[in-house]
Amino acid sequence: MLNDNQLERIIGLRRRLHACPERSGQERQTLQTIRAFLAENTDLDVRDMGGWLLAAHFEGEGLSAVGFRADMDALPLEGTADGACHRCGHDGHSAILCGLALLLNGRRAGKSVFLIFQAAEETGEGAPRVLKDWPELRGLSALYALHNIPGHPRGTVLMRRGCFACASCGHSVRVQGRPAHAAYPGDGANPVALLCRLALDTPAMIEDILRGDDRLLMRTVIGLLAGGDNYGISASEGCLNQTLRGHRQADIDALIDRIESAARVGCEAGGMACRFERHDPFPDTTNDDALYDDVMRRFRAAGLPVSVLDEPMRWSEDCGHLLKAVPGVFFGIGAGEDSPGLHTEGYAFDDALIAPAVRAFEALL
Ligand SMILES: [Zn+2]
Ligand SMILES: [Zn+2]
Repeated sequence: MLNDNQLERIIGLRRRLHACPERSGQERQTLQTIRAFLAENTDLDVRDMGGWLLAAHFEGEGLSAVGFRADMDALPLEGTADGACHRCGHDGHSAILCGLALLLNGRRAGKSVFLIFQAAEETGEGAPRVLKDWPELRGLSALYALHNIPGHPRGTVLMRRGCFACASCGHSVRVQGRPAHAAYPGDGANPVALLCRLALDTPAMIEDILRGDDRLLMRTVIGLLAGGDNYGISASEGCLNQTLRGHRQADIDALIDRIESAARVGCEAGGMACRFERHDPFPDTTNDDALYDDVMRRFRAAGLPVSVLDEPMRWSEDCGHLLKAVPGVFFGIGAGEDSPGLHTEGYAFDDALIAPAVRAFEALL
């Protein structure tokens, strides 16, 4: 547990991080601040990995090793001095991990511990970069990470077996047909009916993939754009943009397959061409069953208040990439029932979460 002096230093650090919010991939000052704090306050071996930080507490060859991961980027926000704002609490997550770093000082954990301060969570680019830059991650016996979650009692640990947060992916179908005089639309190839049909048929495709299972797979129509406002010309191009979201990446992949093959069939029949794009893909963040049981035991033994979530979070987390490479557990810390939601105006990380979150991490050492 952090003593008062340590907690004060971590709160000070959190406020310094909050005061210099940086967008995904641009976390230079943030990285410098964390690095300086670790150098000044711990004996960890800290390496700048070129955009993210790896802090190692190495206890010797032949021992197992575990990892803890925090993110540190802010959200873009036009009209502010920094062009960014910490509205997801990643300043808090990094400060919490530094709290664990203080507790590792001079301690024998019986294993090596690696602290990962990753960049660019919001864009989904940070975790893949950690995997690419540090393949040793795959050798860890466990990886742990957390997110603060408004709408739940302050300081309560939020757990879920299996999927913790959804996979999601933006998907776009672009169809190119041929223009024609509005008096002779049959001379052209108009994509509007096909795009509408794809939009209307997607729910049936989802039902077919789920076959009555009650896991989540959903789509949101983001845009259906086609043709123009020249009343003399039949539409010749358009696109359907949907966001797909679900408990399993495999379901999203299957849905994309169906949408794309229906689009191809329709285009072939109508003499049109199509191409597809994916945007901001995030895999599901899914916990390892055996580790989940172990973590649950440790939290209960440490006397932490734990609540089990009925449903996975609808949002996505790029930690999902890491949990596909190494078994681990991602959990939440309740940020208070009255806290504004993540990413909304008025949200700010609550320093009262630092102590319980560090205690939760400490229980996993
Ligand atoms: Zn966020
Ligand atoms: Zn976040």
